Amino acid sequence: MRKTVSFTRHSANIFFHLLTRCNLRCRHCYINPDQHGRNTLDIGTIDRWLVLFALRHPSSNVIFLGGEPTLHPDLSVAVKRSRQLGYASVTIDTNGYLFHDILNRVTPKEVDYFSFSLDGPSPKVNDPLRGEGSFKQCTQGVVAAKKHGFSVSLIYTVSQANIDHLQRMPPLLEKLGVDRFFIQVIGVRGQWTEDAKCVESLAQVDRDTWLKVIPPVAEAVARLGITVTFPKVFLDPDECFECAGLVADNYFIFPNGRVYRCPLCEDYGLHSLEIRHDRLVKTPKVNESDLFPLLIPEGCVMNRIIQPSNLPPAVGGKLPYKIACCMLKEEITAS
Ligand code: SF4
Ligand code: SF4
Repeated sequence: MRKTVSFTRHSANIFFHLLTRCNLRCRHCYINPDQHGRNTLDIGTIDRWLVLFALRHPSSNVIFLGGEPTLHPDLSVAVKRSRQLGYASVTIDTNGYLFHDILNRVTPKEVDYFSFSLDGPSPKVNDPLRGEGSFKQCTQGVVAAKKHGFSVSLIYTVSQANIDHLQRMPPLLEKLGVDRFFIQVIGVRGQWTEDAKCVESLAQVDRDTWLKVIPPVAEAVARLGITVTFPKVFLDPDECFECAGLVADNYFIFPNGRVYRCPLCEDYGLHSLEIRHDRLVKTPKVNESDLFPLLIPEGCVMNRIIQPSNLPPAVGGKLPYKIACCMLKEEITAS
């Protein structure tokens, strides 16, 4: 069953970056320490910031990220505290190295998903993008998490470097026992902006290629009983465009206290909120929230600002498609 997953309007999603440090150096890493900070939040601060968002949005979903969040020695404490505060779900995003014996310090009742990042069906495809040995470590991590009884999701970030190998993922996902599969578009931000200058293949894929490759692979994965989510990316001209910054409650929190509502803004000081002295305050103009209401016929206004080459060319005065909000997803579940 295929459906567009409109933005969750009744529950918030808290993407909580506990630190920006990581043991890997992925070529497309979106972390930008100049903008996001280099500090590691102490557990007291994490606790107070969790309380802040739990009060503002009861029953929201929290996703712990980094850097690599399992490098944080108190991640297990943060997970348990999230449960006590009534967060509806807890996810840990990891590169698979699972530091600090995290699988033995939290339980499947406390963590809804361990979400692993893998960008290829083999070391040959994955490791040049994510680092030598990372395929082995990630797949071993998935197996270990499953053995401990955790639900596991896997994220594949698509670029020109690995789209041709996506079709080899379904059997690997089945073999590993992955419960959910997320396909992502490579982001034009963070480390990508440096590496893309010398690594042509890190580029985003065009619309025709995306539509030709992604839905059939997603359907193949769903036929194995694995739910698949992928970004919609392109809208037909008559489809309704919505900006998540206006209609949904997503918060991307960084260790320097910046809180963004739109991931595309994260390379710039455009955050609309900031945590100061444990209080959430609005930032002065101009920030991302001043951009969200700017309607353009091509769809997402941030695409026009930071990646205008993505915008559709007008043909005979008409646009063949629009650029969807990066947070609009399609989901395929086995019926
Ligand atoms: S993308 Fe994730 S795993 Fe890779 S270097 Fe960045 S934080 Fe680390
Ligand atoms: S990606 Fe575009 S449409 Fe989505 S929140 Fe950001 S500015 Fe709005």
